[in-house]
Amino acid sequence: MTLPPFDLHRPQSLEEATELADRYGEDAAFYCGGTELLLLLKLGFASFGHLIDLKGVEELAGVRSEDGCLVVGAAVTHRALERSELVRERLPALADMERKVANIRVREVGTLGGNLCFSDPHSDPATFLLALDAEVEYRRGGEAAQRAPISDFVVGPYQTVLGEGEVLTSVRIPELPPGAAVAHAKFAFHERPTATVACLARVADGEIAEARVAVGSVGARPVRAPAAEQMLIGAPAEEIGNGLLAEAGERAGEAAAPVDDATGSAEYKAQLVRVLVARTFREATA
Ligand SMILES: Cc1cc2nc3c(=O)[nH]c(=O)nc-3n(C[C@H](O)[C@H](O)[C@H](O)COP(=O)(O)OP(=O)(O)OC[C@H]3O[C@@H](n4cnc5c(N)ncnc54)[C@H](O)[C@@H]3O)c2cc1C
Repeated sequence: MTLPPFDLHRPQSLEEATELADRYGEDAAFYCGGTELLLLLKLGFASFGHLIDLKGVEELAGVRSEDGCLVVGAAVTHRALERSELVRERLPALADMERKVANIRVREVGTLGGNLCFSDPHSDPATFLLALDAEVEYRRGGEAAQRAPISDFVVGPYQTVLGEGEVLTSVRIPELPPGAAVAHAKFAFHERPTATVACLARVADGEIAEARVAVGSVGARPVRAPAAEQMLIGAPAEEIGNGLLAEAGERAGEAAAPVDDATGSAEYKAQLVRVLVARTFREATA
């Protein structure tokens, strides 16, 4: 596998990046770590004469805490998130989830923004961020930023809301409210997950006051499972019955609309969801 020739552009601002995208149109593509895009080029699944490297664009860099949110620049790598002291202090579950993404070579260069923009249905971060009600910010150079909940940003397999020349700049992740915890679990045979589950539980007065169940990798896109969430509310946090958790897992499996693919049959994935939802929700309440 060899890379076909292309011109490499390294803009230093978003304005410059958009100007390059406009100039070269369909013959240009943005990239950050290149772990997905360069693979596609090598395999001959895509071809571009111009690649626009976003790593030098300052507003896509860094992690900060702002207005009760962790704000992660789109160009921050999985490895940087896994090791960030700020993330470990404010939202350790994010660092734990990131440590389970891919392998160390991919995490070292692959970015959170690249993962979300590629919109592979087998994404751990997209599912995890859905359970946290995260939002993304994106814009074209010269225009104001737009915000969208992660549930709207990911439209389907390899499809996002991003239009021509629009760049994902950051991901805003609300810090957990008091009494809440989030847990993530995945199951994988191959490189990408077969099933990914993230659950948030908020406990008040010994009962589940809020439940969020997000399921990904099994269907066309990550989804929340409202029926599962509803049935968990009001359960005693210290002794959630196995029957109730199994029922919630069943509802989550239905909501996820599993499909047969190279990572497993729909039936098998639904069974994985049943097991992972029960385990993950229990972990979040513990
Ligand atoms: C071997 C392997 C194993 C993997 N395992 C897992 C796994 O277990 N779990 C998981 O969730 N993922 C997994 N992945 C996916 C991995 O997380 C992504 O490859 C990585 O995060 C993509 O980031 P990148 O910066 O390299 O993207 P790039 O390849 O640079 O870009 C990907 C796409 O997004 C676009 N893009 C990138 N950044 C922006 C931006 N800021 N604005 C607009 N468009 C942009 C590009 O045009 C391109 O179409 C795996 C990948 C590999 C290769």
